[in-house]
Amino acid sequence: MNEIILIKYGEIILKGLNRHIFEDKLVNNIKNVAGDSAKVYKSRATLYAEPFEGSNIELIVSRIRKVFGVVSVTRAAVSGRELDDIAQNACAYLEKTLTDAKTFKVETKRADKSYPIKSPEISREIGGAILSAYPHLKVDVINPQVQVNIEVRENGAYIYADSEKLSGPGGLPTGSSAKALLLLSGGIDSPVAGYMIGKRGAVIEGIHFFSPPFTSDAAKQKVLDLAQILTGYTGAMKVHIVPFTKPQLKMRENCPEEHLTLIMRRMMMKISSIIAKRENAACLVTGESLGQVASQTIEALGVTDDAADRLCLRPLIGMDKEEIVAIAKNIGTFDTSILPYEDCCTVFVPRHPTTRPKLESIKQSESNLDFDALVKEAIDGTETVIIEPKR
Ligand code: ATP
Ligand code: MG
Repeated sequence: MNEIILIKYGEIILKGLNRHIFEDKLVNNIKNVAGDSAKVYKSRATLYAEPFEGSNIELIVSRIRKVFGVVSVTRAAVSGRELDDIAQNACAYLEKTLTDAKTFKVETKRADKSYPIKSPEISREIGGAILSAYPHLKVDVINPQVQVNIEVRENGAYIYADSEKLSGPGGLPTGSSAKALLLLSGGIDSPVAGYMIGKRGAVIEGIHFFSPPFTSDAAKQKVLDLAQILTGYTGAMKVHIVPFTKPQLKMRENCPEEHLTLIMRRMMMKISSIIAKRENAACLVTGESLGQVASQTIEALGVTDDAADRLCLRPLIGMDKEEIVAIAKNIGTFDTSILPYEDCCTVFVPRHPTTRPKLESIKQSESNLDFDALVKEAIDGTETVIIEPKR
């Protein structure tokens, strides 16, 4: 039996006059993930993906389920419009679901109002046919285990059970907000932060600081692998790789140990701000969470923030580690994040980092460095790669 994919979207519906802009972006993003395996189009607040002959519907569904803006994805059978056809196809297509259920009801929508039979009557007829084929079932119109949906359209009727609906990520389509530059480490937090800002429609670009030989190629690859997982949601992603060994060595040589982490964080912010400006990214994103480590106390965040010339979004700021881990597992980054590779933040860690730093005193320590020259050299040595989603 031919199948079609029905795609529902949520918050966009509230968008008033701008709604079509959001819808068009969503359709485009879904077209991008469907590639040449399905025809994607919009009709009356639902999007449809019609798989082409021989394409893998399971795979298309799993890709569309990750597109920001999508609330649910449902596979439906495509049937002829005659009542007999619909009844026969509903009984066959939903065989397993109906066999396992005790109660059901049928709900019909007539998108084609010229169809000669009204919706309640269609529901009654199909309900009757289902009861004769599955006599163990009872109709329950208030709280059925299975709701069988029939959509009668100009070109056919679609049949699906509500229980087969798969959830999407929700949010807003990528590209409906500005570009954001994500400071991406190999940890658990920053990929989740990128996911959350991406989910609100921002185009995500990544920046990663690495310090060979203190950090290995495997550590860098891990970050690229994390970016690759994120592209399943955000689409292709640019990642800027910044050489950070020299600044770190200079810091260790010239600055008080207890200030090292914060000076390093400040330089990351500075470099990221400059690259954000160059790349037209309107803000920075980090995975910082209040109080998680010494460099994430309110005072420390203030010191770090002072070095950024752009808005810095910290979507995890009020979240507990457990909540962040739950999201990381859900979006598929967790297993990669916990691979045991070093990060440039974890080399040269002070034994007693300042937790209540004063900006003036950090700036004083920082003045032992030729800060601007180190920033410039790091930016000059930056390489950019483009990570494409797996196809
Ligand atoms: P994560 O789990 O994301 O690594 P974390 O809790 O380990 O975060 P820190 O190491 O203090 O915290 O880093 C705080 C934030 O700074 C990270 O969430 C990330 O946004 C950014 N960051 C840290 N290290 C790097 C790096 N090597 N390259 C780019 N950004 C980094
Ligand atoms: Mg980290």
